[in-house]
Amino acid sequence: MEEKIPYKTYLSENEIPKQWYNVRADMKNKPAPLLNPGTLKPMTLEELTPVFCEELCRQELDNDTPFFDIPQEIQDFYKMYRPAPLVRAYFLEKALGTPAKIYYKFEGNNTSGSHKLNSAIAQAYYAKKQGLKGVTTETGAGQWGTALSMACSYFGLDCQVYMVKCSYEQKPFRREVMRTYGAKVTPSPSNTTAVGRKILEEFPGTTGSLGCAISEAVEAAVTQPGYRYVLGSVLNQVLLHQTVIGLEAKAALDKIGVKPDIIIGCAGGGSNLGGLISPFVGQKLRGEADYQIIAVEPASCPSLTRGKYAYDFCDTGMICPLAKMYTLGSHFMPSPSHAGGLRYHGMSSILSQLYHDGYIEARAVEQTSVFAAAEMFARVEGTLPAPESSHAIRAAIDEALKCKETGEEKTILFGLTGTGYFDLKAYESFNDGTMTDTIPTDEQIADSLSRLPKVE
Ligand SMILES: *Cc1c(COP(=O)(O)O)cnc(C)c1O
Repeated sequence: MEEKIPYKTYLSENEIPKQWYNVRADMKNKPAPLLNPGTLKPMTLEELTPVFCEELCRQELDNDTPFFDIPQEIQDFYKMYRPAPLVRAYFLEKALGTPAKIYYKFEGNNTSGSHKLNSAIAQAYYAKKQGLKGVTTETGAGQWGTALSMACSYFGLDCQVYMVKCSYEQKPFRREVMRTYGAKVTPSPSNTTAVGRKILEEFPGTTGSLGCAISEAVEAAVTQPGYRYVLGSVLNQVLLHQTVIGLEAKAALDKIGVKPDIIIGCAGGGSNLGGLISPFVGQKLRGEADYQIIAVEPASCPSLTRGKYAYDFCDTGMICPLAKMYTLGSHFMPSPSHAGGLRYHGMSSILSQLYHDGYIEARAVEQTSVFAAAEMFARVEGTLPAPESSHAIRAAIDEALKCKETGEEKTILFGLTGTGYFDLKAYESFNDGTMTDTIPTDEQIADSLSRLPKVE
């Protein structure tokens, strides 16, 4: 093992970012605003604050301020698990026999097991500062709910989580971690909300979806005084908080004098990818540097590669604001794949605009090939990756294999968003050879898209 560049690069405490970077400030074409579903006018601060925490609404609407100070309390919490290491994947390179140089930013080194804690702690902080009693949210695979329950317990807030039913059943252990941190967890759709009861009536056997759980959590927030709704992905504010990933990664790369050619991340709602790429895209937008950026999504839920760029509801119950994004339609029910965190019908408005403008590209990969990549990674690099993160690993391996053919020594950076200890059911079906790839037909997607709201 050649070790001129260390296997792991850490930033020292005083090199850790003290501000988040708002890539919108450098975008010429700003992401389209959220619209009020009733009036179809851009959502105002006054309309957003009954649902979301006030300071987070300000961050949501701010397209101009390039940097936001990270409050000291949040910086202090970050110290428990940050800086996250930048790892040179020497063992993976060797196993692949590639001339490519592969780096990954590892975000799984905390109890929630994913990058989601970076935004959870920020959102809990602003809720506490506003004097709220608690927050409600949805969780798909369970990573966001776990992260939020940790953050809420740190600040003494009540935490109510609507968990997508198929994950609730597949992943009882996550539920117990959440309860250990004091959260109340309800499988969604449930009969505890009006929207949940309506969905259950229409689709009796449904295993749920993120869009549906969001509707329930929003209803629970607006019907309880002192509560607000928080969301773990998709929104501009979440991307903003997640820029700690990219800022740290870039600072660590600068420290060892490395510039990536290709940057890869998995994309569910787009928060880890957006956070990872923001500082690099900023350079690209300002004409200072160029990078190839690849968003990787599951073939079972291909919002960027097969969706439509249009205004859509963020939730199945159609009570949230409308967002312009690449979407499969809020009625799209993806097959119950094992990458629960990537089962969202839409995509961050920021990433959607960047994709539309050609700053990033996208590809969809199938579940079995993702797990083949996960298995290889686990065996050679040691870390058992989350199924979501393994989408990025798949694409990184594919790019490294291309380099092997062409002899190019490209530098690849990818985001390893989390660990897979709670996804062993998925690994079991891969190991048993029973894992399948369920890809939606053109008709299914067209049918769902035909129900998009009419916005002109
Ligand atoms: C939630 C999650 C994702 C996907 O969410 P994004 O908002 O697209 O980042 C990816 N990886 C892990 C481990 C997750 O928990």
